[in-house]
Amino acid sequence: MINNSEADWLHLDVMDGSFVPNISFGLPVISAIKKVCTKVLDVHLMIREPEKYIRSFRDAGADQITVHYEACTHLHRTLQEIRNTGAKAGVAINPHTPVHLLFDVLEELDLVIVMSVNPGFGGQKFIYRSLEKIKALREEIISRNLDIDIEVDGGVGLQNAEKILQAGANVLVAGNAVFSAESPRKAIEQLKCIGVENLM
Ligand code: ZN
Repeated sequence: MINNSEADWLHLDVMDGSFVPNISFGLPVISAIKKVCTKVLDVHLMIREPEKYIRSFRDAGADQITVHYEACTHLHRTLQEIRNTGAKAGVAINPHTPVHLLFDVLEELDLVIVMSVNPGFGGQKFIYRSLEKIKALREEIISRNLDIDIEVDGGVGLQNAEKILQAGANVLVAGNAVFSAESPRKAIEQLKCIGVENLM
């Protein structure tokens, strides 16, 4: 279904039961997905000490690897290590983390995930304060003439997608909005329509 949908990427939430309260899946599942999925694998590591596993996630098939700001002591080095594997490098920030904390590593980044819920579980309510963070981040990216995706993760759906894109994000992560829909493919199509209109 996903291969035949209009989705651009497949976003994979890896949870360790320590950085976040939930446990999801790890390397073997990503390897198995890589064998059948034709989309870009966008791997979001909600794990402690992610630097230990970067090579392994790349080998498993991750095209993009995002680590959490709150989980990295040496973020700059970790981002360089991700890029050295040939993957795109991302940082995610939790709702309580100010976005300006990323400004000193923007040059090392291909994408930023702004968490619009507290990570760890699906189906939570969108935190509207995230829109201000997206705006501030997009302004900084433009002022420095950089090419960085801003991805919004958590509580995203048709009800708020337009606002999120207007704030300056260009990637929407939709879990429940797609997989709880009667027709997931149609839900993806509808979200993509908002994106197109917004770009026009
Ligand atoms: Zn995610």
